[in-house]
Amino acid sequence: TYVVTDACIRCKYMDCVEVCPVDCFYEGDNMLVINPNECIDCGVCEPECPAEAILPDTESGQEKWLELNATFSTQWPNI
Ligand code: SF4
Repeated sequence: TYVVTDACIRCKYMDCVEVCPVDCFYEGDNMLVINPNECIDCGVCEPECPAEAILPDTESGQEKWLELNATFSTQWPNI
């Protein structure tokens, strides 16, 4: 799955939301998150993010962002 990281905070350009084929982005007050259970790992959103905030969770150090994305994507309302 892909995850949204801290570079998104107070950004929310929303370009990624437009391209996601499965609508798995969710919006919070300060950033977007990806629901890891819905993400199909297509990678389309990664180059669309102007803040380079979207990364594959396979990159090292992304564990806490995966956890945060998983938690907040189910607690925040859908866009
Ligand atoms: Fe959506 Fe694909 Fe990005 Fe996953 S990798 S969030 S399915 S655009």
